[in-house]
Amino acid sequence: MVTTTAGVMEQRVEGFPRHLLKDPSLLKTENFVGGEFVSGDSGSFAVFNPATNEEIARVSSFGKEETRKAIEAASLSFMSWKKSTPSNRSDVLRKWYEAINENAEDLSAIMTLEQGKPLAEALGEVRYGASYVDWFSGEAVRSSGGYMDLDNRRAMLIRQPVGVCAAITPWNFPVAMITRKAAAAIAAGCTFVVKPAEATPLTALALAELARRAGIPAGVFNVICGSNPKEIGLELSTNPSVKKITFTGSTNVGKILLEQSASTVKRACMELGGLAPLIVLEDADLKKAAVQTVANKTRNGGQTCISANRIFVHKSVADSFVSELEEIMKPMKVGNGVDSGVVVGPLINAAAVEKVKSHVDDAVSKGAEVVLGGKHLTELGENFYAPTILKNVSMDSLFCCEETFGPVLAVIPFENEDEIIERANDTDFGLASYVFTESLSKAMRIGEALESGMVGINSTALSDARAPFGGIKQSGMGTEGGPTGIHEYQNLKYVCFAADS
Ligand code: ADP
Repeated sequence: MVTTTAGVMEQRVEGFPRHLLKDPSLLKTENFVGGEFVSGDSGSFAVFNPATNEEIARVSSFGKEETRKAIEAASLSFMSWKKSTPSNRSDVLRKWYEAINENAEDLSAIMTLEQGKPLAEALGEVRYGASYVDWFSGEAVRSSGGYMDLDNRRAMLIRQPVGVCAAITPWNFPVAMITRKAAAAIAAGCTFVVKPAEATPLTALALAELARRAGIPAGVFNVICGSNPKEIGLELSTNPSVKKITFTGSTNVGKILLEQSASTVKRACMELGGLAPLIVLEDADLKKAAVQTVANKTRNGGQTCISANRIFVHKSVADSFVSELEEIMKPMKVGNGVDSGVVVGPLINAAAVEKVKSHVDDAVSKGAEVVLGGKHLTELGENFYAPTILKNVSMDSLFCCEETFGPVLAVIPFENEDEIIERANDTDFGLASYVFTESLSKAMRIGEALESGMVGINSTALSDARAPFGGIKQSGMGTEGGPTGIHEYQNLKYVCFAADS
């Protein structure tokens, strides 16, 4: 049963430093279903601050039954939302966008406390996440179909909302991974049930509160949290009322969800893991390349799916490039994201630190040299790992087969430019790649040959609401944002008219 239990919020956020918020009423610990904050029968789970490992809140945990109820609420509201006008959808999204921006500092504080990224970076993510709501507010009124003359018939092509959409999102971008799916779905006339990651429910629930204040109708946007993602995921991906599943997370979980959703033939959009190659050619502007590379590897502490895991640098410039990297990375302050001057926060948890350590140790055992860092910063807390530069990393290291998700630059020298495309493509993943060169023809040739959904030429700043984000190979299917992002949430229908005259 789902019940409303207003009043329990105080005791459930005992550990949260509420003085950091201008509006503490954004702190919600119950799930958001059918326009109300509700608790279920499946208890609650703890949310921790990764900088201190302190418990900051307990959030209501949903299981299968409550998930089914949330899907029912979304199904009910789809009956009316699908008939809403594009202008109406655009207007409510605009109000949500404004509410997110007006409360950006509070959202950032909540995010930093449960996710760890430094406050300034969290604010950047809130603005970036809001930009998807802005973009899809515009797309809601721009979405169009088509018309074709088929000789003695006429074709009308119309786009209709797919129905109830279920989303499962990760902890690394607690606002943006929700808004870039939800805003597109809502713009298309779909209703939406999202399960955020266990580590970051508070940001998602604050977004829900802002959606409520913005007037997004009850049941159109629902947030369900839980400590048993398997159980919730199974219901979301097998319930026949859900017509689309959209997921951002690991390739393993993506495969499970695809398999489960096959039983009801759901549409799927999968944004999965990556193993991005970053190639620095002999003629690259090394200073600029180093700035971009460090930004890419320290953003969110390197915990992003488009973070470069394999940095291939031409042998003749490898030492100079590593010196440039070191000059930029060395002064970077690591610490608790709420402290001033901190640019690299903690990793999400102890398991994440262990994974980074194992990759560094493995590379060193295979001949890599530690130029900077290479250590667990236990003096700062359990989850801190030093920004690290390794050189002479070998192709048989773990960096070349598994996503690291940490602030570690693994520099792999290469000699033969002709082989580099093959080496970069030698992976099952294909999300992002990067090339640094001053040669237009090399940029064209390599950019076209790299097997990934996105390629940055002399830039690692790929993410933008106006551009399509997505991977190929085992990095996923479908794209989010950009001019086609709304299509992921629409069925294209062909209506054929006889035209005898
Ligand atoms: P990460 O390793 O980055 O945490 P995951 O793919 O495990 O990536 O997690 C991304 C999202 O998938 C989270 O919301 C998590 O709760 C959810 N998740 C994890 N396992 C499952 C599962 N078996 N079914 C459905 N969702 C899952």
